[in-house]
Amino acid sequence: MQAAVFHSPFDLRLADVPRPLPVKGEVLVAVDAAGICAGDLYIFVGKNPYVSYPRIGGHEIAGRIAALGPDTDGPAVGTRVVVEPFIGCGHCYPCRIGKPNCCANLQIIGVHQEGGFAEYVTAPVDRLHPTSDRLTPFQASFAEPVAIGVQACRRGGVGADDTILVLGAGPIGLAIVEVARAAGARVYVTDIARDRLDTAARLGAIPLEGGGSLLDDVLRITDGEGMPVVMEATGNAKVMEQTIDLVASGGRVVIVGLVGKGVTIAWSGLDLTRKEATITGSRASVGCFPESLDLLARGAIRYPEIATGLALSQAPAVFTDLARNPSALHKAVFLRNSS
Ligand SMILES: [Zn+2]
Ligand SMILES: [Zn+2]
Repeated sequence: MQAAVFHSPFDLRLADVPRPLPVKGEVLVAVDAAGICAGDLYIFVGKNPYVSYPRIGGHEIAGRIAALGPDTDGPAVGTRVVVEPFIGCGHCYPCRIGKPNCCANLQIIGVHQEGGFAEYVTAPVDRLHPTSDRLTPFQASFAEPVAIGVQACRRGGVGADDTILVLGAGPIGLAIVEVARAAGARVYVTDIARDRLDTAARLGAIPLEGGGSLLDDVLRITDGEGMPVVMEATGNAKVMEQTIDLVASGGRVVIVGLVGKGVTIAWSGLDLTRKEATITGSRASVGCFPESLDLLARGAIRYPEIATGLALSQAPAVFTDLARNPSALHKAVFLRNSS
């Protein structure tokens, strides 16, 4: 089968590799669509700390069941599915309390094992979600990034009456914008990149230019109270430190962006108690795929409209472009039979 293989940093090659064989408990999925995520770009540029090379990337996968492993019960061959790419060990503390997304031994399809930038991928049968016929594979491949938005909004307790500020309008920031807006929240967004801010505005967020002081803008908008919910999706340490200033007393801060290993964040300790702010991390997603797929099937998420469909054969060129300019594409999805 054809696959795009990350051989080492900055060396992505199209290759003809053996089709994987599902073992007991697994299925073989014929990949119809596989989204490119920042995590894949990190594999390409050598900054993903979890990956080993060579590796087939791609964890935002929509396709059809092509075969079931031996002695495996699952959806019938031909059933359209998306793959939830996070595989917990089932034994560690986070797994025991129902949080396999932060499993101590987490395995991610497309990072720790072969992913969906290929014609076929294997996945555990319990990691599949059948999809509505109303969704094209292209749309269904957004289940994973939208689930990250669902997770962040759940962690922040975002409801219809909330006003939220999303820091960063990259792919994850946009997913949060979409899910929060679909929940009925009033969503502000800021980003240093003008085109990203414009895209967020097209999706219904209110852009904050950030020309002056972001804090001044936030205080003006909220009559001096600060933001009820602040979502950090830039991964920039300085921006992360600002969240405690931006959040209202009694409000919630959700940190979704990733800083580099060993990078520390300084917060005013007094503000933590004075504001009684809830500061929470949000990692990937757990149990969010059904809601994500439902939002997509209802047309509540417009994110796919700003994405580009590409052929897998374009992978080496696309990753080279993205490494030079990460916002060259808002979002891209490799499609079978796209040429
Ligand atoms: Zn992703
Ligand atoms: Zn575990």
